[in-house]
Amino acid sequence: MSRTTSFKLVLLGESAVGKSSLVLRFVRNEFSDFRESTIAAFLTQTVTLDESTSIKFEIWDTAGQERYKSLAPIYFRNSNAAVIVYDITQPPETSFEKAKSWVRELQRQADPSIVIMLVGNKTDLESQRKTPRELGERFAEEEGLLFSEASAKSGESVEELFMEIAKKLPLA
Ligand code: GDP
Ligand code: MG
Repeated sequence: MSRTTSFKLVLLGESAVGKSSLVLRFVRNEFSDFRESTIAAFLTQTVTLDESTSIKFEIWDTAGQERYKSLAPIYFRNSNAAVIVYDITQPPETSFEKAKSWVRELQRQADPSIVIMLVGNKTDLESQRKTPRELGERFAEEEGLLFSEASAKSGESVEELFMEIAKKLPLA
């Protein structure tokens, strides 16, 4: 008999880094080069940890824009996990710095047990990389976060990063 436990997960990060694309790849295995911007969307996906344990992710995909920033605590306050996304093709001063500020905000305001995964997205554009992998890796290590690079477009590491989170969630 398999038991399913539900967890809330929130996506955070600058707009256009690929938050919605990562979720759509994970939930529907789809990708589109033309995505409308989101205010907030709710999707679910269930993964199997072993023959007796499944994890259902209840995913809040939020907008990164400054004008919606005040809404963010509504989504992360009760979240069990957060995926904070930046774009590796942008210089670190932009979306990577923004990701760091989201981490600090979660450390101040979210539940202390929240599982945080930092994700550098768009690895299919390696030739346009401007944020070195090591920057993300080092920050994640210093702050005790999970870390992955991924591509919503190619699908590289997308399923795996959600599985990594699933393994860290506290099962009753
Ligand atoms: P959001 O604002 O963070 O939700 O970003 P979106 O998911 O809407 O994506 C913004 C743009 O980046 C869209 O044009 C996507 O097609 C594109 N995009 C998202 N992920 C990737 C990726 O992994 N690789 C590439 N090449 N483009 C991506
Ligand atoms: Mg979006």
